[in-house]
This record gives sequence, structure tokens and C-alpha cells, in this order.
Amino acid sequence: MPTASQNEPLKQEKNANQEAGRTPMTEMQSPATWGLETLRKNWSDHLTALARESNIPAKRLHAQMEQSTEYHEIVMKWDRMAGPERLGAWKKLIEASEKLTTDILPSCVQCGECCRKGSPTLHVDDLELLKEGRIAWEALVTLRKGEPVRSPFEDKLFFLLDERVKIRENPASQQCMFLDGETSLCTIYVDRPVQCRAQTCWSAEEATQLARQPHLTRGDIFKDAEPLTELLGQHDKRCSFAALQAAFNKLEETRGESIQEVLDLLEYESHFRDFLAEQLHIPANMMALTFGRSFEDLLPLFGFKAVEESDGTKRLAPDETAQKK
Ligand code: SF4
Repeated sequence: MPTASQNEPLKQEKNANQEAGRTPMTEMQSPATWGLETLRKNWSDHLTALARESNIPAKRLHAQMEQSTEYHEIVMKWDRMAGPERLGAWKKLIEASEKLTTDILPSCVQCGECCRKGSPTLHVDDLELLKEGRIAWEALVTLRKGEPVRSPFEDKLFFLLDERVKIRENPASQQCMFLDGETSLCTIYVDRPVQCRAQTCWSAEEATQLARQPHLTRGDIFKDAEPLTELLGQHDKRCSFAALQAAFNKLEETRGESIQEVLDLLEYESHFRDFLAEQLHIPANMMALTFGRSFEDLLPLFGFKAVEESDGTKRLAPDETAQKK
């Protein structure tokens, strides 16, 4: 019969596991009795809890661990191992995972975690990738100066001080359009922009240095395309985000009475960009790069969506899915 003091280590392990959200070993039964599926599941649960505890992206820890030969050897031999051997193998895996949290490899393991939080902003150094057709022009979207954007890190709106050109994101999320949702792999990995190369989860140094490099703008892209640049300047001036923001502020102050002003602005901006596109023969798949996001595209940032009536006119309706702040 174990004494109270002999039970103390078990109690301590139980408390530590509870704090970390791990299933205690005593409740998981001994690894000696696990089949291969149970090993995989308990291993995955262990890595998820460890990642949470160590503040490392969970997908990165899983991806990096699964690349280790030790893990693969244990998985391959597991069904043939006797009970005591399995205990030793499980212990080895636990030790390896704990070492990994203090010893993250200084290389990208393509876990896809950062690509899910947003797409990259392009820099002047990326222009060659575009000119050589390694990234398609249609994959780009311009965020204009003064445009409201939602930070993926703080979940609140801020207004851009300068223009940015970005890779497009999936409409329902902030995930980069080049991330393959099933494999979590970048579909243009060899040709990925400089920000993706610099943004690493083991060090902020390269990203900090890159932040000082000039961002790519439409001025760099359409440098020799007059009168386009002149007309884009007109679009920025006549359809400014300051005017849109002011219209929404007024809408709030007047408790909805000034709604027609917002609708008029939306209509004006839509007509203006369609008119320019027609005059300049801009194809539909280049509109996001050429003119940026339309005022209508931005409505969810203000908590609204546009609904088309049967006569073709539009009205504003609250957007239940929008995260207004
Ligand atoms: S381009 Fe590739 S590496 Fe860069 S964010 Fe998109 S999916 Fe990730």
C-alpha cells in the first residue's frame, strides 16, 4: 500500500497536467496498452497542450515534430513493440517534444500558421516576381492611403497612413489566397514574396529590418502608364476614405437619418470606378489592384452590407457576420 508521501509525485503530476490542459497519464492508461491510433491521438493532444503552454504555434510544433526521424521510427515499430519498449519510446517522444520547445529550428516548416493570419504586403523587391509572371497581377489588391483595415492581431480598425499592395485574402477569412487549406502548404513557396521569407516565428529580426524597406505601390507598378496614374489620383481624391468615415460618423450621430448620404457616396464611387475602367479598358480581374477595394467591399468593417432591391437600387442592412468595433 503506497504511503501519503509516496503518492505526492502522482498528485503533483496530476496538478501540472490539469493546469496545462493535458490528460493525466493515469487517466490515459499506460502507453504499454495503446494501439497505434491511441498513440497518434495522445501524441497530438500532448503537442497541442505543450504548444499552448509554450506559446508556440501549435501547427508549427506538430509539423516540426512530425518531420523528425525519431517520431517516424517509433510509429513504424509501435505495433511490434513489447510493453516496456513502448513505455521507453513514449518517454523519448515526450523528451524530444520538450527539447523542441526550447530549441525551435530556425527554418520554416510550412505549418501555415502565419499564412492564416493574413496575406503578405509587397515590397519594391517583389516587383521582379510580378514582372516575370511568377505571381499573377490578378492575385493582388491595393489598400489605399487612409483605408480602414482590421488588424489580425488586435481585432480593431486602423487607417493606413500609406498605400499598400497585398496578395489577396480569402473573402471569408484573412487567410492568404495562396495557402492550400487542405495541406497547409504555400502553393507559390519558391516564389513567395520577401515578407513571407522574412516573417519567421523563431525571430522578429528579419521582419523588423524588412519593415524599413519601401513598400510596393501602384506608382511603381503603373509608372509609365499615363493617363492611368493621373486618373487614379482623381479617384483617390474624389472618393476618399475620410468622406466615407465622416458619412458613417454622421449616420451614427443622426441615428440613421442621414443614410442617403452613405448610399450616395457608395453609388458615386461605384460609377466613378466603372466609368474609368470602361474608358481605360481595365479587365474585371485587375480592378482590385487598379482601384483597390470598393466602398461597398468595406461596408462590413462598419457593420453593414449592401442589399440589392428588385428595382436595382441598393439599401444598407446590418451585417450580422461583421465584427464591428
Ligand atoms: S504567399 Fe505563401 S508563404 Fe506567403 S502568406 Fe501566402 S501562403 Fe503563406
